[in-house]
Amino acid sequence: ERKAALAASTGPGATADGHKVPLLANVGGPADVPAAVEAGAEGVGLFRTEFLFLDDSKKAPSEEKQVEAYRQVLEAFPEGRVVVRVLDAGADKPLDFLTPADEPNPALGVRGLRTLLDHPDVLRTQLTALAKAAEGLPVYLEVMAPMVADRADAKAFADACREAGLQAKFGAMVEIPSAALRARSILQEVEFLSLGTNDLAQYTFAADRQVGAVSRLQDPWQPALLDLVALSAEAAKAEGKSCGVCGEAASDPLLACVLTGLGVTSLSMGAASIPYVRATLAKYTLAQCERAAAAARAADSADEARTAAQTVLSGE
Ligand code: PEP
Ligand code: MG
Repeated sequence: ERKAALAASTGPGATADGHKVPLLANVGGPADVPAAVEAGAEGVGLFRTEFLFLDDSKKAPSEEKQVEAYRQVLEAFPEGRVVVRVLDAGADKPLDFLTPADEPNPALGVRGLRTLLDHPDVLRTQLTALAKAAEGLPVYLEVMAPMVADRADAKAFADACREAGLQAKFGAMVEIPSAALRARSILQEVEFLSLGTNDLAQYTFAADRQVGAVSRLQDPWQPALLDLVALSAEAAKAEGKSCGVCGEAASDPLLACVLTGLGVTSLSMGAASIPYVRATLAKYTLAQCERAAAAARAADSADEARTAAQTVLSGE
């Protein structure tokens, strides 16, 4: 039965009553594109560009090399959406030539957008390469910054995109609780939000994502995390803008329904999860997803939230 449901799962992501939730793929470069296309991804929701930077620990890849890699990904989704994240170096992804070696707490130090604002040449090359790669293609290019903390960060990123002459939507990742709490203010500077629930959980619970001993607190079903997702989605709705999820949370089929019920507008995940999420989402109406989301938020723990959502969805 499960096999049949998965085989029947094709086409755009939507709830049983036709509320559309685009299902996008997380990719690390051109090598991940065939699996995304095969799974029927409606585009790319997170292109982690840092993989392009891992070949050489001493300097950034040339503009030409970047143009080539970006173009290969953009060409794979004609008429589709491709959300490219600018370099997210530091913390769990250090780069020798960019990341300070002497930080006592790298996850709380210079990482993500902070690194790029300290090295404007690296950001400029990346944005220029993206502008060149997208030239003449019908793709909807969206470019977002990791680790945006406040409106000033969002403005600095949008300014850099404009200065590079980029024809794209500019967005901010919500990975720091301050960004979720003040999402409306950040949306004065950018056109969309994308929730990075892996880091958002890490910073909300002060629980290092690389430390197994605190993994209980990394559970994306934690009601406090769901509250921050709801705040971000509500802010985006009030501003008439979109708010996706591109962290691991989106790949859990039941949680994908809850995120939809919280008002999230697209879900991006590893390609292998797309058929499962599509099939589960298609079983429930938006109203059912909203009731499951309310039940999960009313819970006091991740386990209770999971059970509460399951109960709502299986009982109807
Ligand atoms: C996240 O933090 O949820 C995210 C999508 O980014 P990364 O896992 O690459 O840090
Ligand atoms: Mg992150």
